[in-house]
Amino acid sequence: MTQRGSLDIRKVSKNYEVDGRPLKVLSDINLHVGPGEFISIVGPSGCGKSTILRLILGLDTGYEGDILLDGTRIAGTSLDRGIVFQDHRLLPWLTLEQNVSLALENAPLPAAEKRRTVAQHIALVGLQGFETVFPHQLSGGMAQRGAIARGLAVRPRILLLDEPLGALDALTRLRLQEELLRIWKAEGVTMILVTHDVDEALYLSDRVVVMNSGPGRIVGEVAVDLPTPRVRTSPAFASLKQ
Ligand code: ADP
Ligand code: MG
Repeated sequence: MTQRGSLDIRKVSKNYEVDGRPLKVLSDINLHVGPGEFISIVGPSGCGKSTILRLILGLDTGYEGDILLDGTRIAGTSLDRGIVFQDHRLLPWLTLEQNVSLALENAPLPAAEKRRTVAQHIALVGLQGFETVFPHQLSGGMAQRGAIARGLAVRPRILLLDEPLGALDALTRLRLQEELLRIWKAEGVTMILVTHDVDEALYLSDRVVVMNSGPGRIVGEVAVDLPTPRVRTSPAFASLKQ
């Protein structure tokens, strides 16, 4: 089930042009993520975490080095990569269902199959019953669930998460951490999470990659050895979930 979704970043460097001069924002990034692996990237603001995700997503092709997904060099954006940002970015004039459907607009699927996939992913994130609701009628946590449903509806090989829980209150963040773990296990999809919260990184991922800035580079890596399933079992947390 998890044989797809292996990512190789090889010798990637990236410059931006600032005031007519090149600014090196990524230097010699090398990273392998295995199929179905859940890794986190932590590091100070501006060290290039979002830039790496943007390159993997294919939004920006101006870089040196290679990025391969399942052995094939990525070229532009594609349905094989999904992303969730800190703000949900659901379109305000579309319902939840229409927002998730939009992600499948260019998918080579019959209409009935698309409808089924949309319903499945809305259910996956626990939003069944909210299909015809507009984004402003959803709480922050629910809107992020919607964004996760949209990111996964295309059945990507890899899901990129750019501080997806960063704007949520503490309790909602805990709940959605559990949801991310549950969804990861259910879908077997490779996940790369960028977060400011080191506890979150250690709790959710198999491996934490540490970056530093000036220019952005990988300075270390921690393998996380928590028992599986990594679900909070303390009575205190159980009562929080009510
Ligand atoms: P992070 O997500 O780790 O906070 P970013 O990847 O957003 O960092 O940014 C890395 C560096 O690149 C920062 O110094 C930022 O100011 C710079 N940067 C990001 N986007 C651009 C851009 N479009 N043009 C110029 N500089 C940029
Ligand atoms: Mg960022």
